[in-house]
Amino acid sequence: MKIIMLGAPGAGKGTQAKRIAEKWQIPHISTGDIFRMNIKNGTELGMEAKKYMDQGLLVPDELVVKILLDRVAQSDCKNGYVLDGFPRTIPQAEVLDAELEKLGEKIDYAIDVDVPDENIINRMSGRRACVSCGATYHITYAPTQKEGVCDKCGSELILRDDDKPETVQKRLGVYHQQTQPLIEYYTAKNILKSVDGTKDMEDVFQSIVSILV
Ligand code: AMP
Repeated sequence: MKIIMLGAPGAGKGTQAKRIAEKWQIPHISTGDIFRMNIKNGTELGMEAKKYMDQGLLVPDELVVKILLDRVAQSDCKNGYVLDGFPRTIPQAEVLDAELEKLGEKIDYAIDVDVPDENIINRMSGRRACVSCGATYHITYAPTQKEGVCDKCGSELILRDDDKPETVQKRLGVYHQQTQPLIEYYTAKNILKSVDGTKDMEDVFQSIVSILV
C-alpha cells in the first residue's frame, strides 16, 4: 500500500505516518527527516537544504525529487510506503505519478490531516526536538519524562528553527500557496481522504485505520 500524508506543518501527519508504518509494516519516509539527517552529517545536500528550511521555505523541487525517487526505489519499499512531507508541490506530485506509472504502480491513498491554522500555531510553539536523534515531543501533548531531555537518547531538546513562531507563520503561508493545491489534485484522482486532525492522536489514528482497512 502506497500512502501520502497531506496536511499543514504541525498537523500531526508525521506522528500518524509513523503509526501507519508500524501497523502495516511499511517504511515511513519523511523528506524533512532526510534533510535533517543530511544537515546533521554536514553533507552538501544538507547545507543547501538548510538555507531554505531555516527560512520556512520549501527546498527546490529538483533537490527533493531525486532523493525521494532514490528512496522509494529501495528494496524495502516493494510492498509500499507512507510518504510524510512529500509531495509538497504539484510538480513533485506529477513527477512521482509519472515515475510510478512507468512501473505500472500508483498511490493508493492521500490522507489529509485537517487542522485550522490557529491550532497549528499553538501546537508548533510547544514542539521540541532532540538535537541528537531527532525524536520529537510536545511540552503539553507528548512531554518527555524529564523536562528538556530526550527519552530515547538522553540528549538535549530544542525548539527547532523551523518551529519558531515567525517561521511557522511563513511555513503556513507556503503550505496554503504551494501544498494545499494537492488536495484538489488528489481529489480529482479519487484517492483523497480527509480526517479531522484536531481530535486526539488516537482518534485520528482510528479514523485513518478505518479508511485503510
Ligand atoms: P517537515 O519535517 O516535513 O516539516 O520538513 C521540514 C522542512 O524541510 C520544510 O519546511 C521544507 O523546507 C523541507 N522539505 C521537506 N520536504 C520537502 C518537500 N517535499 N519539498 C520541499 N521542501 C521540503
